[in-house]
Amino acid sequence: MPSGRAKVVVETQTTQLQAGAEDEVAPFFINLSALTSSQLSNLRSVGLVSEHGTAVRLLRAKHVAYLLTGLGSLSQGYVSLDSSRPWIAYWCLHSLDLLRSLPTLSGEPESPCGAPVPPDLPERVLATLSSFQNPGGGFGGGPGQISHCAPTYASCLSLLLLGPAHPSCYAAVNRGALYRWFLSMKTPQGGFRMHDDGEVDVRGTYTVVAIASLLNVLTPELRDGVAEWVARCQTYEGGFGGEPGNEAHGGYAFCAAAALRLLGRLGDADVGKLKGWIARRQLGFEGGFAGRANKLVDGCYTFWQGGAMAVVNMDEQGLPPTASGVTEQVLEVGGGDDGVDVSEVQEATPSAGNLTFDQGLLQRYTLLCGQHVDGGLRDKPSKMRDYYHSCYNLSGLSVSQHTLSEDGKPVVYGDPSNVVAPTHPCYNIRADRVEAALEYYKDAVSDHASLMKE
Ligand SMILES: [Zn+2]
Repeated sequence: MPSGRAKVVVETQTTQLQAGAEDEVAPFFINLSALTSSQLSNLRSVGLVSEHGTAVRLLRAKHVAYLLTGLGSLSQGYVSLDSSRPWIAYWCLHSLDLLRSLPTLSGEPESPCGAPVPPDLPERVLATLSSFQNPGGGFGGGPGQISHCAPTYASCLSLLLLGPAHPSCYAAVNRGALYRWFLSMKTPQGGFRMHDDGEVDVRGTYTVVAIASLLNVLTPELRDGVAEWVARCQTYEGGFGGEPGNEAHGGYAFCAAAALRLLGRLGDADVGKLKGWIARRQLGFEGGFAGRANKLVDGCYTFWQGGAMAVVNMDEQGLPPTASGVTEQVLEVGGGDDGVDVSEVQEATPSAGNLTFDQGLLQRYTLLCGQHVDGGLRDKPSKMRDYYHSCYNLSGLSVSQHTLSEDGKPVVYGDPSNVVAPTHPCYNIRADRVEAALEYYKDAVSDHASLMKE
C-alpha cells in the first residue's frame, strides 16, 4: 500500500495543515504484528485486536451502545440540532442496521451484540417521525416545523429501513401529499428547493429523486429537466458543486452522481472527469478521503466520495438504476463478533475489489483512525465522535467492503468479523431494505394524474 507522505514543493498554510494531519494519524498506523505481547494484550482488552490474532477489529458492541444513546433523551447541548431530529434518528438507525442490531420480525436483533436494543424502538421512531409529517406533504425537522427536503429524506429512509419488520412504517408516508409537495419545490430550471422559498441546490434535488424513486412516485412530470440541471453543477475540476458555478465538493458530488444514476442519466455528466476528481481526493498516506481539493482527510467522506465512486462504477457495469451492486450471497454475510469465517471474505490487498480507489487503504483509515475506543466514529483522531460521522464512516466501510465485490465475497481489512451489512450506494439504506421498499410500493398508484388527486 502507498505509504509516502505528501511531497511539499512550496510551503504554504495548506501544506502545513496537511503535514499536521499526517503527523496526527501516523501513530495510529502501527504494525500490530510487531507489537509486544503486553502491548497486544492492552489492545485486546479494549477490543481493538482479536482475542487470538493480530488484526484490527471493528468495535461493534461499543458502537451499538453509543448509537443507542442517540435514540434516547439527548442532553441540552443538542438543542441546536432540534430541527435535525430526523437526521439523528436516521444516522443511528441506519448505523445499527449496518451492524445488524435492529429488532427483526421476531423482535430479536439479527445479530445480538453488546447493549440490547429496546424492543419498542421501532414504534417510538414511527410515532415520533409521524408527528413531523405535515398534512400538505413532506416532513419538518420536528412537530410544527415546515416541510424541508433534508428531514423528509431522513424521515423516509428511517421509516423504510424499519418497514420489513414493521410494515406500518411503509403506510405512514402520505405518498400523494408528498408527491404534490415535491412538485411544488421544483423550479423551471429543473432543480428543487430545499423548502418553501428556500435555496435550490443539488442536495434538495437528490433527496427528492431518491425518495420519489423509493416510493414509486418518480413520474415524468417530476423528472423532466432535472438531469440537465444537475449536469450543469459539474465543475471544471470534475466534481460537482451545490449549484451551477460553485466549487466541487464531495457531498454534492455524491448527491449529483446518485441523482443522475437514479434518473438513468449519469451519461449527461463527464464521467471520466468525475472519476478522476474523486480518485484524487483519496489521500495516499492517510487512506481516507478529503471533501475538496487541498482539504484534509475526514471520515465522513468515506461515504460521500467512496459512495459516489461506487455509483459511477455500478453505472459503468451497466446495472439498472435501482440495482444495489451486491450479490444475493453478500446480503447474507456478516454478523456478530465471531460469526464470520476468513474463507467468506477477501483480504483487502491494494488490488482487491472493483471500485476505482484503494478499498483496503480506506478501510484501514476507518478502523484505525475513525473509531473512538469507547464507541462511535469520528472525522479524524483529534475530533470528537458524533452520530453523523458514525453513520458515514460505517456507510463508506460498507460500500468499500461490498459494492461490486466478486463471488459474494466482501473485501475486508483486518479481522473477518469487521464485515458490516451491505448498504445501497444510491440511497444509503441497506440493499435488502431498498429491495423490500421497491417491492412494497411497486403496485401503488404512481401516475401523475392519480397522485394529484390522491
Ligand atoms: Zn466530516
